[in-house]
Amino acid sequence: MRILIDIDTCTTCRLCYDTLPTVFVDRGDGIPITLPMKSFPDRNLVEAIKEVMESCPSNSIQMEEVG
Ligand code: SF4
Repeated sequence: MRILIDIDTCTTCRLCYDTLPTVFVDRGDGIPITLPMKSFPDRNLVEAIKEVMESCPSNSIQMEEVG
């Protein structure tokens, strides 16, 4: 699974990394990067990521299957 951040629309509101710091990290200028993840993370983590995606005020987080 891969998480994509649209850095052009991200408003650096901090919500994603304040909410889920095991996945999202401030790269230093307010834009988040994602930490390496297992290809098939457990269901609780996927649900937590989906909640953050839906809460992102600028809809800048997408998730896609890989492999
Ligand atoms: S929640 Fe969305 S807008 Fe806020 S920092 Fe994360 S990606 Fe950017």
